[in-house]
Amino acid sequence: MDESSWASLAWLNGRGKTQELLHARAAQAAAEHFGRRVFIRAVVEVSNFCRENCVYCGMRRDNQSLTRFRAHHDQLAELLIHQRPASITDVNIQTGEDPVAVRELVLPLIRTLRQETSLGISVCLGTLSAGLYDELQKAGATTYIMKFEMADAAAYQQLEAPGEAEERQEHIRLLAKRGWYVSSGFIAGLPGQTPEQLLANFDLAASLPLVGCSVSPFIPGESTPLADAPVGNIEQALNCMAILRLTKPSWVIPAVSALNLAGPGSGYRRGLSTGANLVTINLTPTEIRRDYLLYKRDRFIMTEERILASIALQGLVPSEQSLAEHYRHSARAVNGSSVAPAPAVVVS
Ligand code: SAM
Repeated sequence: MDESSWASLAWLNGRGKTQELLHARAAQAAAEHFGRRVFIRAVVEVSNFCRENCVYCGMRRDNQSLTRFRAHHDQLAELLIHQRPASITDVNIQTGEDPVAVRELVLPLIRTLRQETSLGISVCLGTLSAGLYDELQKAGATTYIMKFEMADAAAYQQLEAPGEAEERQEHIRLLAKRGWYVSSGFIAGLPGQTPEQLLANFDLAASLPLVGCSVSPFIPGESTPLADAPVGNIEQALNCMAILRLTKPSWVIPAVSALNLAGPGSGYRRGLSTGANLVTINLTPTEIRRDYLLYKRDRFIMTEERILASIALQGLVPSEQSLAEHYRHSARAVNGSSVAPAPAVVVS
C-alpha cells in the first residue's frame, strides 16, 4: 500500500478489526525499522514563564493561578549528572516561551551536560532568534522539538497557538537548514476539530524536514478557556499514531504521557503497540512540576519503573543507542535527503 494512502478517513475512524489491522501494521513497520528497541529520554521542565497565550495550554500567559518559576542550574545538573535513571540515553530540556530562561539557564545547563555526560540533548523552547538557535547548537544540543500544533490555519489563529502558523513552520524549516534534527507534533481531538482538519496534519508533517513527530490527545487544561471541553478520543489519537508510523516508517514517534490521561490504565501501553518507539521519563523536580501546567495538576507521571514495565509488557527493549546517535547515523545513511546533516558535537 502506498504510504500516503494510510491517511484516510477510513483508517482514522477505524475500530474493531480495521483498527486491529491498522495497529498491527504500524507495530510491524516500527519493528522493521527499529527492531524491538525503544528510546528512553528524560524530560526536565525548567521554566513555566510563557509569553504565548495558547487557549488550550495551562501555561498560557493569562493564567494567573500559576506560580511562575525558573529552575536552578545546579539542582538540574546534579539530578541529570548523578541521579538520573540508568536507562536514560537522552534528555529533553523544555520551557514555556521564555528566552530569559534560555540564556540564563538552558545554555549553561547544556554546556555542563555536554562536558559531564554523553547524553544526547534535545530542546523544546518555542521560537527563538536564529542567533539563539546557533548558540544552543554550539553548546551541544542537536535536536529541536517544535510542534506545529495543528495544520488548519484558521483553527491555529482561533486557538491563539504560538505566534503564527506559517511563522512556526518557517522556524521548523530554518532549524533544519541550520543543521538541527527537528521533531514536530500535533494535537488530536481539539474542540471543534473535524476529521478532515485532523487528516491535514499528515500532509503538513510530510512536507516538513522532520526526523520525528508526536501525536498528543487533547487534554482540557486546568484554568484555561477549554477546561470544560471533552478529552480527545484515545482511539482516534492511537489511530493517528499508527497512520503516522505507516506514513513515515523511519521517524521517531513518542508515546506521550497524555495518552494515559486520555486512556487511563492502557493508553500509554497501547501507544507502544501502535508504532511508538520513544518514551519519556519526567525528571522535573517535584516541587516545580506542579506548576508546569500543560493540562492538569494531577498529571500522570511516567517514572522509570512504569516506563520499563510498559516496554517489557509489549515485548520491547530499551535502546542502548541514544536518539542523538540514531539521528546522526540515519542522516549519514540518507546523505542527500531532506534530513538535516549531522552537526558537529563533541561527546565526552
Ligand atoms: N514552549 C515550547 C513550545 O512552544 O514549543 C514548549 C512547551 S509547550 C507548553 C509543549 C506542548 O504541549 C505544546 O507544543 C502543545 O502541543 C502541548 N500542549 C499544550 N496544551 C495541551 C493540551 N491541552 N492538550 C494536549 N497538548 C497540549
